Amino acid sequence: MANLLEFRNVTKTYTRGFFSEAGTTALADFSMVLKEEDPTILTVAGESGSGKTTLAMLLLGFIDPTQGQILYKGEDIRNLRGDARMTFRREVQAVFQDPFAVFNPFYTVDHLLTVPIEKFKLAKSKAEARSKMDEALSAVGLRPEDILGRFPHQLSGGQRQRINVARALLLKPKVLVADEPVSMVDASLRANILESLRGLHRDHGVSIVYITHDLTTAYHVANSIVVLYKGGVMEAGDIDSVIQKPEHPYTQLLIDSIPWPDLDRRWGTDGLSVKESELSDKGGNGCRFAPRCPYAKDECLTASPPLHRVKETQVASCILHQQHPVLPSANLTDVLPV
Ligand code: ADP
Ligand code: MG
Repeated sequence: MANLLEFRNVTKTYTRGFFSEAGTTALADFSMVLKEEDPTILTVAGESGSGKTTLAMLLLGFIDPTQGQILYKGEDIRNLRGDARMTFRREVQAVFQDPFAVFNPFYTVDHLLTVPIEKFKLAKSKAEARSKMDEALSAVGLRPEDILGRFPHQLSGGQRQRINVARALLLKPKVLVADEPVSMVDASLRANILESLRGLHRDHGVSIVYITHDLTTAYHVANSIVVLYKGGVMEAGDIDSVIQKPEHPYTQLLIDSIPWPDLDRRWGTDGLSVKESELSDKGGNGCRFAPRCPYAKDECLTASPPLHRVKETQVASCILHQQHPVLPSANLTDVLPV
């Protein structure tokens, strides 16, 4: 099967200045594939600072990996030129956290939607452009006659974020990266926006990388999940397995801290709510989570555990699971179902 998008052992380290020491590894040795034939919704979850936005920026080609490669249809995205680069920029779209950021207060919504149509030459006439706008707005549940001709201040945050999704949809993308798309939107409108993302996947075959710190929305939206902590994959797999039976102490901590209304699972009663590790982080090569992990042993501070395959579609980077086979090359491709 053709690989649409591939991360191949991608590491991103930010260095502060010319003389800086080690710097921050925001993403470490990350490998996975989105397949062209099997569009999916993948959640990348983790607390603030875990490397989620870095992953999004890398995927979009806004920043380059320090090590490893990101390939689009088999080609390193750093090497894309001419038509291939235009295709990449059209087919890989983004919706960001701030629904206000891309709106210029002096232009109407029409303008925001016309710019990509012109830039990528998507329509031959004004009428065709208008019908494309109508189609995209309708696809996210907005009525074109309510929206077109309006200025940004006349729209709610939820409407703006849906317009952002419509704008991405205009370009008929193959991949949409949504980085915390509902975290700045009123709670009452969140479900609406997430449903429009699901619609893009279901009706238009778009693969969605849904980035969030919120596991409840992830559970409702995604097919599979990658849990990051300080740039490392702690756990990954199919969303039902990981949420219902998390195997990594960090995922357990995240999940136990949420009240789950529709999951047959008690919270805060098992797992880690009580005690933290007595081991201190010496900044070594050990497990990133060890300093917070109540199960941590001395060995956790010296070597970072590989991903152990606890199930066909679930891996965890933890010595508690070392009886399970190690996932070759830490490559998540076959672990994440579509
Ligand atoms: P998240 O989106 O999960 O909050 P980020 O990818 O924004 O995580 O950040 C991951 C880590 O990289 C953090 O420690 C952050 O401070 C650091 N970081 C992010 N962007 C930069 C940057 N431009 N320069 C230096 N450090 C950065
Ligand atoms: Mg972020």
